[in-house]
Amino acid sequence: EVALVEPDKQVDSVCPYCGVGCQLTYNIKDDKILFVEGRDGPANNSRLCVKGRYGFDYVHHPHRLTKPMIRRADAPDKHGDFTLDPNDIDKVFREATWEEALDFAAKGFVGIRDSMGPNALAGFGSAKGSNEEAYLFQKLIRTGFKTNNVDHCTRLCHASSVVALLECLGSGAVSNPVADVDKAEVIVVIGANPTVNHPVGATWIKNAARKGHKLVVMDPRRTELAKHADHVLQFKPGSDVPLLNAIMHTIVEEGLVAPEFIAERTEGFDELQAHLKAYTPELMEPICGIPAETIREVARLYATADTAMILWGMGISQHVHGTDNARCLISLALMTGQIGRPGTGLHPLRGQNNVQGASDMGLIPMVFPDYRPVGDDEARQYFEELWQTPLDANPGLTVVEIMDAIHRGELKGLYIMGENPAMSDPDANHARQSLAELDHLVVQDIFLTETAYLADVILPASGFPEKTGTFTNTDRLVQMGRAAVSMPGDARQDLWIIQELARRLGLDWNYSGPAEVFAEIRKAVPHMAGITWDRLENEHGVVYPCFEEGDPGDWVIFTEDFPRGRGKFVPADVVPPDERPDEEYPYVLITGRMLEHWHTGSMTRRSNVLDALESQAVATVHPLTLDEMGITPGDLMTLSTRRGEVSVYARVDEGVPPGAVFMAFCYYEAAVNELSNAALDPAAKIPEFKYCAVKVSPGGEP
Ligand code: SF4
Repeated sequence: EVALVEPDKQVDSVCPYCGVGCQLTYNIKDDKILFVEGRDGPANNSRLCVKGRYGFDYVHHPHRLTKPMIRRADAPDKHGDFTLDPNDIDKVFREATWEEALDFAAKGFVGIRDSMGPNALAGFGSAKGSNEEAYLFQKLIRTGFKTNNVDHCTRLCHASSVVALLECLGSGAVSNPVADVDKAEVIVVIGANPTVNHPVGATWIKNAARKGHKLVVMDPRRTELAKHADHVLQFKPGSDVPLLNAIMHTIVEEGLVAPEFIAERTEGFDELQAHLKAYTPELMEPICGIPAETIREVARLYATADTAMILWGMGISQHVHGTDNARCLISLALMTGQIGRPGTGLHPLRGQNNVQGASDMGLIPMVFPDYRPVGDDEARQYFEELWQTPLDANPGLTVVEIMDAIHRGELKGLYIMGENPAMSDPDANHARQSLAELDHLVVQDIFLTETAYLADVILPASGFPEKTGTFTNTDRLVQMGRAAVSMPGDARQDLWIIQELARRLGLDWNYSGPAEVFAEIRKAVPHMAGITWDRLENEHGVVYPCFEEGDPGDWVIFTEDFPRGRGKFVPADVVPPDERPDEEYPYVLITGRMLEHWHTGSMTRRSNVLDALESQAVATVHPLTLDEMGITPGDLMTLSTRRGEVSVYARVDEGVPPGAVFMAFCYYEAAVNELSNAALDPAAKIPEFKYCAVKVSPGGEP
């Protein structure tokens, strides 16, 4: 007979992983999470994917950081070989009191600020933290460091989508929720693999397809979602713009545009129309590898549907032409009037659980909270009054630019809260060398990440189920996450740590907790002014825009007009990938994520069930290409680019296009971002994670 362990407490919260934002309940006994159940939230209807259901025990992992630490004077050289063993932590760091660690951290920043100027400092916040943490973090960098050098991982995921949406519509927000696919006659999913990256979101799409809604999946990889699709366009990697321009060419040529919508709500159509003339499906067919007739069929299907919705992911955004890709998708919706009504619209699927919120909170170098440009006098005056201090009018540096500025010796001090650029940045060896060159690196995290290993001070922080705060999902739904278990050892709340540092930088802050920070956020972000803390406590989640208390919030936006007035068509030319295959590096390397692991793996690889499901570094290749490489599935192979080399196990996947290799970036022992290319999209400064040249040879070091 098996005795079931009964929980002694249940706490309602949200999932800490992806932007779908599933509501869940933690079941707890003796201050430990026993299991997790889905709750009936608007984004998940009680569903959870494998990460939400089983990815919780990382918080109880013995590797948790429990004491503040300062780097030993005799620690190994930061520039030496990169090794990471949590058991050797005492050889690199010594324990410190909170007082000593915070004083040391703050003194280092003040010294650099006062000797070299504010722009010698920067901060990376986190899209995994709450809105309150993101808000206070950027406020500290802007008012304590006195620079706009503050960014976070949105730069690495949807920066290009947001640049294009702001330029063309005046708002970076999604137009309607994922679940709206249920009202869409035609659903287009492009450059996204939601079954893996937004699994519960994918269930809405699959349900709609099962009910007879038409599903078009466009991606260089044939993903699982393709099994449910009516049309699958497996285009050549990097040929998004030619394909989308050919679709738009057809719509214009066949008179399928929405003339009234174009006349009343848009500008720049004539220029786009002239630009599209050259992009005939026949001419684009060999470039994107899709038959001209298929391009025409999909164009007709989308344009003539009563309602059609486009969802996209990082296959669109992570290119040197990422902004152009998003501009094309926006033009497609505008020319057909497929936006501003239920079941129509544009939805860039947000990656992290709070990347939408962190961006709303101004964790971005060129804008204050609510996307108000730092160079805009009126906006700056508003925040100078709210924060009672003068602010810098110059946009700060982005994530990759900060790494380059460190390399040039211009930036000396960096505060990182909950991000792991040593794993997540492109050309990770370059990023690690940059981090090693800093005079002062302060890392606030829950584990000794690859980045924390290079720190001068480590501040042990709170895990997701240990704190209360608000989180904004991909649908613009602000939801309440609640503390469920205690922090281990001397770990502290992130909000407390930020405030203690702020005080030591001369800021007179005294927030009593997240509710008081949220009250200030309502003043900084008018779109959220109607959302009160009490309401979130009672309703669990409220969608914005929500300007007034009592306002239910708008699930569908852009119904009457766009925030910039008229929607703007911006034509896009073909810009090839930065580094194309050649004789020496003959294959294309595509990076991404996998179902069982999240981003750099610091949480999911410490979750027992998830790590047991996928415990070894693998890369996937089309069987014909693997055969051509002379490699047997299951064998080790070595991937090399101009920037580095990693060894991984080979796995066959017929969905990967011939001539390409796909690998997730969650493996510290085979960090694929050591290989990726740091070339940037010129408008959004997002790196080209989705394409670089690679060579592959049999064998390697496990
Ligand atoms: Fe968590 Fe996303 Fe999975 Fe939902 S779909 S359980 S939010 S990882």
